[in-house]
Amino acid sequence: MCVFCQIIEGKIPSVKVYEDDAVIAFLDIAQTTKGHTLVVPKKHYDYFLKTPKTIMHRVMDVAQRIGQAQLLSLHAKGVNVLTNNLSPAGQTVFHFHVHVIPRYDEADKLRLEMIENDARHELNLPAIAKQLQQKFK
Ligand code: AMP
Ligand code: ZN
Repeated sequence: MCVFCQIIEGKIPSVKVYEDDAVIAFLDIAQTTKGHTLVVPKKHYDYFLKTPKTIMHRVMDVAQRIGQAQLLSLHAKGVNVLTNNLSPAGQTVFHFHVHVIPRYDEADKLRLEMIENDARHELNLPAIAKQLQQKFK
């Protein structure tokens, strides 16, 4: 059983922020910044891209409300909302979860830098868009 399923079943302790019939939110053990929260469906799905839409919408709804609470209650100045899909994207726990990370300062210990691709001028953007559209559901 995965670590988040064990938390959901109460076999591993967690500090809960929110719970309903389908969704649980608890503090990330890493506390990248103060109040870093994970929002998780109670039913196991491996990652965001494999999660049924109704459940994904429930999780995102809670993630939005947690982010709003971080601004209001923790006096965060910004919030990052992110979800990693598969190992190359940094996923380490294979139970869908959304990180809601309050930001207080640009020196917070979170780095997410989108660096311009040196080869971007060689890319055929209309062809890439067409490729994506072929499998768009
Ligand atoms: P990711 O790399 O997106 O899969 O994120 C997994 C997150 O789960 C990391 O930020 C970990 O700190 C967090 N994590 C792992 N085990 C626990 C746990 N027992 N309680 C709370 N957070 C955890
Ligand atoms: Zn699980």
